Amino acid sequence: MTPGARPAGPAGPARHPLQEAHPLVTEPRHPAAPPRRVILLGATGSIGRQAVDVISRFPDRFEVVGAVARRDASGLRALVERLGVSRVALVAPDPDLEVPAGWGVGLEAACEIAALPADVVCVAITGAAALRPTLAALDAGTTVATATKEVLVMAGEVVRARARRSGSRILPIDSEHSALWQCLRGEDPASVTRLILTASGGAFRDRDPATLAAATPEEALRHPTWNMGPKVTIDCATMMNKGLEVIEAHFLFDVDYPRIDVLIHPSSVVHSLVEFHDGATKAQIGAPDRRVPIALALADGERLPGVAAPADLAALSPLAFRPVDPLRFPALGVARRAGERGGVVPAILNAANEVCVGAFLRGACRFDQITDLVGEAVEAAPAVTAPSLEDVLEADAWARCRVTDALALPAGAAVGGPGGGVGAA
Ligand code: MG
Repeated sequence: MTPGARPAGPAGPARHPLQEAHPLVTEPRHPAAPPRRVILLGATGSIGRQAVDVISRFPDRFEVVGAVARRDASGLRALVERLGVSRVALVAPDPDLEVPAGWGVGLEAACEIAALPADVVCVAITGAAALRPTLAALDAGTTVATATKEVLVMAGEVVRARARRSGSRILPIDSEHSALWQCLRGEDPASVTRLILTASGGAFRDRDPATLAAATPEEALRHPTWNMGPKVTIDCATMMNKGLEVIEAHFLFDVDYPRIDVLIHPSSVVHSLVEFHDGATKAQIGAPDRRVPIALALADGERLPGVAAPADLAALSPLAFRPVDPLRFPALGVARRAGERGGVVPAILNAANEVCVGAFLRGACRFDQITDLVGEAVEAAPAVTAPSLEDVLEADAWARCRVTDALALPAGAAVGGPGGGVGAA
């Protein structure tokens, strides 16, 4: 067993990777405990940089032992110099770049780093490209703190099986899922009646739906509350992001789709809520600052002091909520349908969406076509029960080809699936 690994737990449906790992009270950290060894995947992207910010503020608590970026060599070099990271890799460096001696190159190198002995692997690679490195970390028995919902969406069943097998755990960095985790901690899962994800509504929350077909990437990238990478910001504008998060919540917390709801909450102060069978509802509240969920996951559920300023509720009032208009945001229904169909259908949803969003950002797809094409792929998806990893990868490739053809994109435009690398980092 690697030094970072936990002993394998008993297999079986009763064990849940997230809930079992977090008993009612978090044990206090021993003052002399060594720093937690962290591996950063997607180290130079939006989430990666915020993780580095958290880590830099707690140098006695964290030590970065490995880092992977997609192609940002100068960002990675800065990280090596700043934090003394010894093992680094670029997934897809520019062809004319002279990669420094000792650096790894390619997805295999990224997977090798993900499997190094560590306490937590922070997965912040955008999209399906995060799948293999995530599985490598889980197989090594390391806790995965993931910001990449696409991995659980496309391969939730496979990921959970791998985590069970090695005894590894999956902790959420996504703000809504971190909120759910915080609300669920210490509660009996049998007392939970509903998970309620909040959605900001994205850039087009109040725009006339009749004008959305002509929406430009520049308009869609203007997110009202969160500053994030381009892919997720477009997903917020369509609300596909919330659809993916419904599926992510299903796999993280073992809750059926009819009990996962979405509410629009424009100010993104209430990050999500859990409703219990006695009529109580718990909410997690905070200013929109991703460093809180990042720090909580990296520290294995322990709250570190001073990560962010507390929310000023008087200044942020009134807090408003409203239901989602399915006509304005049809993507949410498409995603829910994919989740309920199960099997490889969520993988098809995710892959079709990634291709469409990439094409939209390049001006090769209209805004309204994103949801239309993804919906058509979901309806045409084959039924596969208990899919293997190979089934998932095959479905992913099928969806990418289908959408590439539908948009008449040039050959190779769909590159960026689990075997390649899309994303900012
Ligand atoms: Mg989110």
